[in-house]
Amino acid sequence: MSAAPRLAGAHYTVAVIGGGQAGLSISHGLRERGVDHVVVEANRVGHEWRERRWDSFCLVTPNWQCKLPGHPYAGSDPDGFMVRDDIVRYLEDYVAAFQPPLVEGVSVTRLRRSVDGVFDVTTTAGGFTADQVVVATGPYHTPKIPRMAERLPAGVEQFHSSGYRNADQLPEGVVLVVGTGQSGCQIAEDLHLAGRQVHLAVGSAPRVARFYRGRDCVAWLDDMGHYDKPIDVFDDADAVRMRVNHYVTGRDGGRDIDLRAFARDGMRLYGRLTGISGARMEFADDLKVNLDHADAVAESIKDAIDGHIAAQGIDAPAEARYVPVWEPSEQPRALDVTEAGITSVVWSTGFSRDHRWIEIPAFDGRGYPMHWRGISNVPGLYFLGLPWQHSWGSGRFEAVGRDAEFLADHIDAGRRTADVCGVLTGAPADVAPALPIG
Ligand SMILES: Cc1cc2nc3c(=O)[nH]c(=O)nc-3n(C[C@H](O)[C@H](O)[C@H](O)COP(=O)(O)OP(=O)(O)OC[C@H]3O[C@@H](n4cnc5c(N)ncnc54)[C@H](O)[C@@H]3O)c2cc1C
Repeated sequence: MSAAPRLAGAHYTVAVIGGGQAGLSISHGLRERGVDHVVVEANRVGHEWRERRWDSFCLVTPNWQCKLPGHPYAGSDPDGFMVRDDIVRYLEDYVAAFQPPLVEGVSVTRLRRSVDGVFDVTTTAGGFTADQVVVATGPYHTPKIPRMAERLPAGVEQFHSSGYRNADQLPEGVVLVVGTGQSGCQIAEDLHLAGRQVHLAVGSAPRVARFYRGRDCVAWLDDMGHYDKPIDVFDDADAVRMRVNHYVTGRDGGRDIDLRAFARDGMRLYGRLTGISGARMEFADDLKVNLDHADAVAESIKDAIDGHIAAQGIDAPAEARYVPVWEPSEQPRALDVTEAGITSVVWSTGFSRDHRWIEIPAFDGRGYPMHWRGISNVPGLYFLGLPWQHSWGSGRFEAVGRDAEFLADHIDAGRRTADVCGVLTGAPADVAPALPIG
C-alpha cells in the first residue's frame, strides 16, 4: 500500500469526504478519469458495517446487487446475502484492488467555501483546500432515540440498534424492541431465536416477500425495471425519500419476516409506542392496521410480479398467496415494564443526518441537501450515497456506483471545460486568469 496522501497545507482538485462504499466508488471513477483527489475517512474503511451492525447481520439485498465500479461481487453465491464480515472484506478488497488516495482515521470537522470559490477543509490532521468536494459521509449519522426514553425506569438498560450486537450483551430478562424497520424486525428475530421473550412495538413499515414464484422478489423487481426508476418520475419525491424500507431478511439464505408468525410463536406485539409514564408504556391502537398494511404491500408487490410474468409470457411456477397465520385478538394499549420483567429496550428508531460541519448554504429547511443527482446548488459541492439520491439503490450497493459514475463524469467534464474555457467551478483565483478565454 502506498503512503497516505498529505493533508495539512495541501491542495487537491477534489476532496472526497467519507471512505465507505460511496466514497470509494467516486474515488474509483475519479482515478479512471485521471482527476487528482484525496479521500478522507474518519475511521477505517468498512467502519459502518464493522462497528454499527449486529453479529448475525447480513445483507437484505442479494450479493449480485453489490456492483461497485470495477468491483462486482465475485464470490460463489451471487443469490446469497453476505454476512457482516464478508461485507467489510468486500470493501477492503476494493481498496486493495485500486489503492485509492485514502487517509483513514482523520475526520473532517468543518467545510467552508471562500469567496474565490475554493473549499477550505478543516480536519483533525490539519487544514487543506480543494476545488471541489464530494460529501460521501453516509446517510445514517446520529442514532435517533425518542426523548421519552429519558422517562424509562432507571434499571432498564437501553440500546440503539446501531449498538446492539447479540442477545448475550443484554441483561437477563425480557426485551422490548421499539420499531419494525429493517433493523427492528431483524433484531427482534435475533433475540427471539436466542430464546428471549420479546415485546415488539410495531410501526407502519411495509414488508416484501423474499421469494415468489421461484425467484427472489428483488430479481423480479430488477427485471421489471423497478430499480432504474429515477426519483424525478414520482409526484412527491420528498415522500419517496422519507419512506421506510420494506422488511425481509437475508438470514439463513433468505426468508420472509412475518411478525404474525413471531406472535404465533410467543413474541408479544403492540402498536406504535406513544408514551412512557413511570413504569407504564403506552401504545397506539394501530397494531392490526400496521400488520394488515405490511401484508397488503407485500401482496401488491406479488400482484405486480404476476402482471409482469403474464405480460412477458414467462413460464414461472404458480404460488399460493399468503394467508395470515395470526390475528391480534386485542390491541394492548399499555404495558407495565416492571410487571412484564423488561430489563432492556432496543430502540430501532432510525438515524438522523448531521451535516452541521458543512458551513455552506446547501440545505433546505429540514437540513436535507439541495441537489439534483448529487450536484448541489453550490458550485463544486456534491453529495453521494443519499437514499433515493437518484433511484432506489442510490443509498445502497445497487446504484451507488451508477451515481458515482455520473458525478465523476460531471466533475471531469467541468474540468475539461475549464481547460478550454477558463471557467472552473471553484477554481483557485490564481488559476482562472491564466486560462485561455475566448
Ligand atoms: C441496518 C442497515 C442495513 C442495511 N442493509 C443494506 C443492504 O442489505 N443492502 C444495501 O445495499 N444497503 C444496505 N444498507 C444501506 C447502505 O448500504 C449502508 O448504509 C452503507 O453503509 C452506505 O454507504 P455510504 O458509503 O454511503 O456510507 P457509510 O457506509 O456510512 O460510509 C460513510 C463513511 O464516512 C465516514 N465519515 C462520516 N463523517 C465523516 C467526516 N466528517 N469526515 C470523514 N469521514 C467521515 C464514516 O466513518 C464512514 O466510514 C443498510 C443500512 C443500514 C443502516
